[in-house]
Amino acid sequence: MIIKLKKDVSEDEILEIKSILEENKMIVVENESKSEKVIGVIGNTKIIDIDKIKGYSGVIDVCDVKEPYKRAGRKFHPENTIVKIDENICIGDNKIIVIAGPCSVENEEQIIEVAQKVKSSGASLLRGGAFKPRTSPYAFQGLKYEGLELLKKAKEKTGLKIVTELMSTDDIERFEKDVDIIQIGARNMQNFDLLKKVGKLNKPILLKRGIASTIEEWLMAAEYIMSEGNENIILCERGIRTYENATRNTLDLSAIPMIKKLSHLPVIVDPSHAAGIDWMVEPLSKAAIACGADGLIIEVHNNPQKALCDGKQSITPEAFDKLMNDLELVAKAVGRNI
Ligand code: PEP
Ligand code: MN
Repeated sequence: MIIKLKKDVSEDEILEIKSILEENKMIVVENESKSEKVIGVIGNTKIIDIDKIKGYSGVIDVCDVKEPYKRAGRKFHPENTIVKIDENICIGDNKIIVIAGPCSVENEEQIIEVAQKVKSSGASLLRGGAFKPRTSPYAFQGLKYEGLELLKKAKEKTGLKIVTELMSTDDIERFEKDVDIIQIGARNMQNFDLLKKVGKLNKPILLKRGIASTIEEWLMAAEYIMSEGNENIILCERGIRTYENATRNTLDLSAIPMIKKLSHLPVIVDPSHAAGIDWMVEPLSKAAIACGADGLIIEVHNNPQKALCDGKQSITPEAFDKLMNDLELVAKAVGRNI
């Protein structure tokens, strides 16, 4: 349930309304937009005397929220959330943020070379997997802690903040200390224990859409994180499993405007895992920006043919540089910059 309040509602009225809600064991979430204040109410709201609440002079309306996600929903939080990474990088405002780097960190030379090149082309953050979720247990599983150390070295050398995937709750403290954005991968989108634990951190979380998850399930995963207190979530559409097998996954472009309608959280797109093919990264990146995405996460490798993971979908630093130039025009066309 949400209670919409006039912008100039008195503090006393807010306190009285909140005390009624809290006496009834409701969870109360307060937000405001340019035109109104909103009190979101979570719990068995059927027991609340709605007429009494409507009787307060500062109350505009009381509405039911039928969606199961509350904190992640736009009804509870009408304004867009902007996730601040540092003084210069925010995700969800007018500037489109590009995260780039290899699928996996392979060695020092590779990660530093890629980091330097993507930075000079305009990437804002460096990606690179240290712990890799692989379909086969015999495939390269990532350099793990050594990979994290190499990411830190690349950050020291270039100043680029780092994004990498957390797979186990055992590594949370280490990631909290060393990583700037913690990625929860598609395969772990419904690992509720992991979601609840990262929900206790004060750290941005990149929440990838599950391989076969609906938008509602994805927003419920965000709700798990938010229910523990962490509201710094960036959603990432990375393609879903469909009957089509010409591409690795099917990029669900319609998810972008839909998320913007249903949620206040920023959404970025991963064209690399969606397509699984290097030459398709360019058109899908352009389409994502045209559809309103707040950013992109792109796999870039200095030698895609020799990559230990996802070489087929990785673009070269030269192709990335050209792509960044091309994206400027698309961003401009939708009133944004990159
Ligand atoms: C990745 O970004 O390296 C990755 C494994 O992505 P996803 O979880 O979307 O498959
Ligand atoms: Mn990959």
